[in-house]
Amino acid sequence: MTTRNRFYIETFGCQMNVNDSEKVAGLLEAEGYVATTSRDAADVVFINTCAVREKAADKLYHALGRLKKAKRERPGLVVGVGGCVAQLEGTAVLDRAPQVDVLVGTHNLSSVPELVRRARAGHGRGVDLDRKADSFDVPDDAIAHSSRVRAYVTAIEGCNHVCSFCVVPRTRGAEVCRDPDAIAEEVRSLVGRGYPEVMLLGQTVNAYRYHGLDFADLLARVDAIEGLQRLRFTTSHPEHVDERMARALRDLPRVCPYLHLPVQSGADRILSAMRRGYTRAQYLETVALLRAHVPALALTTDVIVGYPGETPDDLEQTLLLMKEVSFDGLFAFKFSPRPGTVAATQVDDVPADSKEERLQQVLTLNKQIQRTRIHDRLPA
Ligand code: SAM
Repeated sequence: MTTRNRFYIETFGCQMNVNDSEKVAGLLEAEGYVATTSRDAADVVFINTCAVREKAADKLYHALGRLKKAKRERPGLVVGVGGCVAQLEGTAVLDRAPQVDVLVGTHNLSSVPELVRRARAGHGRGVDLDRKADSFDVPDDAIAHSSRVRAYVTAIEGCNHVCSFCVVPRTRGAEVCRDPDAIAEEVRSLVGRGYPEVMLLGQTVNAYRYHGLDFADLLARVDAIEGLQRLRFTTSHPEHVDERMARALRDLPRVCPYLHLPVQSGADRILSAMRRGYTRAQYLETVALLRAHVPALALTTDVIVGYPGETPDDLEQTLLLMKEVSFDGLFAFKFSPRPGTVAATQVDDVPADSKEERLQQVLTLNKQIQRTRIHDRLPA
């Protein structure tokens, strides 16, 4: 009896990374591999990395540390690294971690099978970090979706924003919008395979533009696909929310009344330093526009505390904004300087204990807001 080769994928980071891992899994399955839930039982271990915060990037080296011993014990084990840290640090990953055999950037997932094949055949380490490669080249039917309910579908890759804190434009490149025909075809195929829900993905998904079509047009196009039950999308940037998008949220029957709309800060001084492209008042106007169209809209956000120069008054502005909007959910992060970003050239002057304290203030207020919201919904 022949045993099939097994792969194990470890994923850090956002939904785009999860979707990338689903692509790698599908490509390896097409090569005859089967997934295993045990790192120790795998012939190939692939780590899909996130570089958004230093803590996230550190996870790669912790994972590689564990694999060093495994590799000594099982010399045939192939270790692959992909995603944002691979793209950002490039071959420095190989210098730092001799146990890595395969290194691919964010646009090069389709090279994984070939590079793994070569490494297993003893042809040495393989690298593909070509940023100009087509990142939409993994066939739809090769994607091994990890959920049977919600399928991720890439709508737009990269980001054209210049947020001072964010490494994403460096790791994923400039925006490239996918052909709406290809998106619709993928969604149709997913619906045919029984998926009730699709989530369109992009770092700034609502920046979608394709030969005169905008994001509202794309939503309408996908919403019209027969058999689809729920349509979601993430992440939206406040600057690209307009009346047409608000109407699409209101009028399209399959679009879920949910929006993740990162605000990052409630203080104009900090928003301007972050280069977010909107003021506190503009963000609130955007929320008002959305709620005027969809009163029951569920709204979640991201907040960064301890950005360089952030004062207690600035934080107070963020807390006030949280109360004013009354978000349905919130993710809060301590500012982390990232290589090559504008913010990394500024003095990271908010001490670590103040960052922690501010994070706790934001999280505590968020908890209170959630409790009140739940209480308000309970029958009297
Ligand atoms: N593209 C989205 C946007 O522009 O709002 C989100 C990108 S990022 C993957 C997710 C979240 O990580 C951001 O919204 C931000 O709150 C947080 N983040 C990004 N860079 C950070 C940094 N240098 N330090 C701390 N948090 C950061």
